[in-house]
Amino acid sequence: MESSIEPNRRADRIILKNAMYYSDQHDFRLADIVISDNKIEKICLPNSIDGGNVMESTNLIILPGLINAHLHPSKELYGGLQAFSSISDVLDAVHRNNHLETEEIQGLSSLYSILNSLRQGITTLGIFTSRAEVDAEQAKKAGIRAVIHFSQNDQWLGKESKPSSSSLEDVIKRYSDCVHKYESDLIKVHPATASELSATPELMKELHKIAYQENKKFVMHVCEGKSQVEQCASHYGESGIQVLEKLNLLDSSTLLVHASALSDEDIGVLSGKKLNFIHCPVSNSFTGAGRFPFKALLHNQIGLGTDAAMVNPFHKLAFDAAFSLYFHGESNLDEKVNVIDLVDSITKTGASALGLDYVGSIQEGMFADICFFERGDVMVESQDPSLLFLDTILNHNPAHVMINGEFVVLNGKFLHCDFDLIKNHFLKNKKFER
Ligand SMILES: [Zn+2]
Repeated sequence: MESSIEPNRRADRIILKNAMYYSDQHDFRLADIVISDNKIEKICLPNSIDGGNVMESTNLIILPGLINAHLHPSKELYGGLQAFSSISDVLDAVHRNNHLETEEIQGLSSLYSILNSLRQGITTLGIFTSRAEVDAEQAKKAGIRAVIHFSQNDQWLGKESKPSSSSLEDVIKRYSDCVHKYESDLIKVHPATASELSATPELMKELHKIAYQENKKFVMHVCEGKSQVEQCASHYGESGIQVLEKLNLLDSSTLLVHASALSDEDIGVLSGKKLNFIHCPVSNSFTGAGRFPFKALLHNQIGLGTDAAMVNPFHKLAFDAAFSLYFHGESNLDEKVNVIDLVDSITKTGASALGLDYVGSIQEGMFADICFFERGDVMVESQDPSLLFLDTILNHNPAHVMINGEFVVLNGKFLHCDFDLIKNHFLKNKKFER
């Protein structure tokens, strides 16, 4: 049955009647769900509410909007160059093509990447970028919920070519300007630096202090493979984790991406702490950067990310989630990650890792970020509910996507933009040297 909600219309109050939804308790339940303004107001017994603006949902499976906690959307340009390669080779390809990357192309690439995420039911993105302004504009255009990890640096200890660098004062000024210009209900800007090689201890401490004061996260890539760990050790005499430990930065205001080449000593340091991580399994396998010890660090908030398209040719969050089931514990079942924890990592735990409250599950009082799949495509009764969740997002795109109580995709079509036009324009511009 088609929904009775008209496209382009934002109803103040919508009743999803007779809806099968994935609950906070990791099972499927039948209910009437009342969306009021931008929140899930009430979850009631099925068929218990009459009248009002009803969306008959008997034929739908309703999931919380998905969260891709880490990607570099403008790097979508480099997707599909190779099946795998070293980090240095990836960076070389980017540098070879750098002269072709205008701000306009970056914006287009970013917009395409964001819309392509939305189409798959992703309602929140953690966008890691040194050009926060460009990506914030595109996130705003697409109407997605986003935490922009504004990456700035004040040194470079690596052998690879140097990313841009500024003084501590300039870093803080540009960060505050960006916060004032772009923050809204949907967009937040958090302080970040590229990695343990890109910031002086002073800058790391300052960015962490800002994150703590503003109830945000200080974000950086860390221990991404052997070569990064070695370069850090040759400067500091210890790993990135140990540097952060000495600076007192390993706490709930810090969000670390990758952590895929940790020593036993690093894991020992982390076992007594509680912080936030983003696991990027396909990216880590692509670049041979090791494997994040998911099970050993499960006491932290762990989100999942696809990372840049250039290190993830399929660039599909659902594939990263499914891959995580088989990337871990290939010779020891004790290291296997529970499918419930994986679903949490792309929903509510991913949201917490990004520092977002009231996002990531279908519960009363949460923001109404929801994706709706056709139930006809999916069998419910006999499957493990969390496995069914993964199977659904891996094999289907949602029919409708709602963000902050508003439909962004309805019956497979974007309501506010022409996706095919943007896609064609993007593909025409994607002409890089392999
Ligand atoms: Zn990254």
